[in-house]
Amino acid sequence: MDCPNNHGKMELKRLPKEVTFRGRLVKYRPEHFVCRSCGLVADDWKLAASNQKALADSYRREVGGDAQDGGMRRRRKDGLWRLEFSL
Ligand SMILES: [Zn+2]
Repeated sequence: MDCPNNHGKMELKRLPKEVTFRGRLVKYRPEHFVCRSCGLVADDWKLAASNQKALADSYRREVGGDAQDGGMRRRRKDGLWRLEFSL
């Protein structure tokens, strides 16, 4: 991914993050594109999807194995199975 401010290729970085998800503090390490020149942080759709999954996985680890699917549920939409957060 290129920086929208014309700084060329952005670097892929893993940035540790803490968020409150479903009333719990969840730590996870999402990946983002970061510009070396201006520090702009961006995701493409693939990163957004994998970061969402990383958050769900961490949440599941937090609450323990018996929480089925964590906050995720599967829904059939447009003929495809999608994972969705049920907030
Ligand atoms: Zn930039």
